[in-house]
Amino acid sequence: MKSFGFSIAKPRSLEIDGESLERLHRLEEKEPSFKRCFNCGGCTATCSAGQFTDFNIRRVHNLYRWGRYQELGEELRKCMLCGKCTLVCPRGVNLRHLIVSMRELLNEL
Ligand code: SF4
Ligand code: SF4
Repeated sequence: MKSFGFSIAKPRSLEIDGESLERLHRLEEKEPSFKRCFNCGGCTATCSAGQFTDFNIRRVHNLYRWGRYQELGEELRKCMLCGKCTLVCPRGVNLRHLIVSMRELLNEL
């Protein structure tokens, strides 16, 4: 077969079960502004914890959406709840309250 200098990546898919979706809806009920997030990364760029550790608040959003709660619990401990991310979010997502809500929901597991 002729080589074109690149290969086609295998398709990747996520399996999000009903339980994870239910937990996502509960998070959106606690903090409705989360629905407005369009993953721009502004919060990650300004995050205080991210300047000293590998913490990535945008990744935290995705871990929650994907139902990867064990990794999420470890990540959430790195947040200092300083609120800088909330100040810069262009969609007005209340990230500080979102993080507190995630912690509360994880404690119920
Ligand atoms: S800055 Fe706001 S809109 Fe952008 S990724 Fe963060 S929470 Fe989402
Ligand atoms: S509240 Fe947490 S996620 Fe937001 S900027 Fe501060 S340390 Fe980062």
